[in-house]
Amino acid sequence: MRIVLLGAPGSGKGTQAQRLQAKYGVPQVSSGDLLRDAVARGTELGLKAKAVMEAGQLVSDDIVLGLIRDRLARPDAANGFILDGFPRNEDQANSLNALLEDIGQPLDAVLLLDVRRETLMQRLAGRRICPKCGTVYNVHSLNGATTCPREGAELFQRPDDKEEVIGRRLEVYEKQTQPLIAYYAKLGLLRTIAGEGELDSVFERMEAAALAKPLPPSSVKVSTAKVPKKKVVVKAARKAAKKTRKVAVKTAKVKAARKSAPKAKRAKAAARTAKRAKVAKKQSARKAGRKPARKK
Ligand code: AMP
Repeated sequence: MRIVLLGAPGSGKGTQAQRLQAKYGVPQVSSGDLLRDAVARGTELGLKAKAVMEAGQLVSDDIVLGLIRDRLARPDAANGFILDGFPRNEDQANSLNALLEDIGQPLDAVLLLDVRRETLMQRLAGRRICPKCGTVYNVHSLNGATTCPREGAELFQRPDDKEEVIGRRLEVYEKQTQPLIAYYAKLGLLRTIAGEGELDSVFERMEAAALAKPLPPSSVKVSTAKVPKKKVVVKAARKAAKKTRKVAVKTAKVKAARKSAPKAKRAKAAARTAKRAKVAKKQSARKAGRKPARKK
């Protein structure tokens, strides 16, 4: 199983990755966790990343790529991995493609967890974590408790889960990470999963999507056409209607002309025949030396 989990902050990537890891024995590789670990250990890289993370922005691509490369080189990732939070922009996705090609481990699928914005806000603002076991809780389901039900440790809130940072993180996601949906759809790797509802049901959908056979890229078409604005649509519709009316009038005229053509032809021919008959009558009367009989 070699998959990427895509989704906004708070969409449940971490939780679902842990479940997949437990069931399938492939490691969850979370760029956020790797960075938080570097921050906690106070490494040079961690010091560089700390302020950027607390501001809700993305850490530079080379730092994150270095961490991911080292992590994927460890033996437990030889039989697969669940990438959580990486890649987060198109450059990272291109770097990942190159890296996976190098190590001969192409992706099986990219799973997108689809969750509404208001749910994301609620989940992120209410998220609390146990410092001992790492279990993630939400204040809405804790009934006022502030300690871990398992470990008894005081739960903490991530600095970037503070309300003033959440909005910025979602904006960064929409601008930089969301374009990866079309990117992976074009490669035929994308599978979208409804990310709301019971955890078990979401997990079942994740599993089914992760194990499904990949689609050939040629069978996936992504429309890049922009939806025209309403005004433009109305104008275009009016123009099209006017053109249709013009064509209809022209067609009616042509039809009428065609219909009346044989009648007019017949009338002309009849007039010509009558004239010829009259002339012939006059000539034969002259020959006979008498005037043609007058009409009564
Ligand atoms: P996460 O735990 O995935 O929500 O990540 C927490 C923070 O770590 C993000 O808001 C970023 O500041 C940083 N981060 C995690 N993954 C990446 C990545 N792939 N590229 C850049 N920054 C990242």
